[in-house]
Amino acid sequence: MELTDTKFGDRMARARLVMAEQDVDAIILSVGADLPYLCGYTAMALERLTMLVVTSDTVARLVVPELEAPRVTMRGELFELVTWAETDDPIAIVASLLGGCRRVCVGDTMWARFVVELIAARPDLELLRSTGVMNELRAVKDEAEIGALRAAAHAADKVAAALQSGKIPLIGRAEADVSAELGRRLIEEGHDVVNFAIVASGPNAASPHHEPGGRLIGSDEIVLCDFGGTMDGYCSDITRCVHTGPLPAELVELYAVLREAQEAGVAAGGAGGTCQDVDRASRSIIDAGGYGEYFIHRTGHGIGMEAHEDPYMVEGNDEPLLAGHAFSVEPGIYVPGRWGARLEDIVVARADGPDVLNQADHALIEVHS
Ligand code: ZN
Ligand code: ZN
Ligand code: ZN
Repeated sequence: MELTDTKFGDRMARARLVMAEQDVDAIILSVGADLPYLCGYTAMALERLTMLVVTSDTVARLVVPELEAPRVTMRGELFELVTWAETDDPIAIVASLLGGCRRVCVGDTMWARFVVELIAARPDLELLRSTGVMNELRAVKDEAEIGALRAAAHAADKVAAALQSGKIPLIGRAEADVSAELGRRLIEEGHDVVNFAIVASGPNAASPHHEPGGRLIGSDEIVLCDFGGTMDGYCSDITRCVHTGPLPAELVELYAVLREAQEAGVAAGGAGGTCQDVDRASRSIIDAGGYGEYFIHRTGHGIGMEAHEDPYMVEGNDEPLLAGHAFSVEPGIYVPGRWGARLEDIVVARADGPDVLNQADHALIEVHS
């Protein structure tokens, strides 16, 4: 997604506003998505320190290793560049840039070593998570971000459709092979990166985060596929199940409950409710269907530049669902040693209700190859 300098300026202004509201003197961001969200630069995830220091000064400071400075697209109205040479102490530079700051928010994906070193250099700082600043800012997507999420979802839908139509052979193939094909197809459909492609067959489908391996997929088995990647900076994430042969009655019954639970979770996903309402809507149907003990995870997670980010659809999260929140609705039923199923779509909360980004068929489809 092409972003204008104005867009970054708006984001930085909103971050500063929240900082002022919450009495935060500075935010420091490093590797991960917070940094590119705010200033367009992605730090190399290596040992050398890259850190954006945002204080009440009108421009932020981006501290980068001298050798990586040529990678930075300068946005002079947003930040000035501070480079450090191989023999400099970058923590000392950050410590001094923080000047008289006391309450400092630290981005969630900052490496521990930098935090530990900063505490040693500046024991006077009160370090806080940046949940209330960066996470909440990033959780509410604008229309361009929703457009990017929708495009990624549609690309993933096409891969799901190939799976459901039998174009991706399953029977006699190793899970890992099918996983690699799902990944290749995500790239063919426009993704830049594959983040994961779970393929869990038969009893393996009872493990929600199964690592696809050498198990050969048989006939008359459920095959749970949960895959996603990053396209134009935003993530996709979809789960569909297929069955390699006629559907047993027991599975038809289980899947009917799962599908109804997923629909209920989606229906609760409009702005105005709370995050835990989505979880409760799905879970109450699975409980009533008698499968409650087999639904062993929260109903969903936020999604955006990261595959999992705030807000989380989980009991206890009574944060309001806001227009622009993007998240998964993915209840599952996992019967150990037997089988499992999950159904997942990405949803955006709107003022007038949920906007479902994934359009792939929600049925448990029989495939014959
Ligand atoms: Zn998961
Ligand atoms: Zn998923
Ligand atoms: Zn997910």
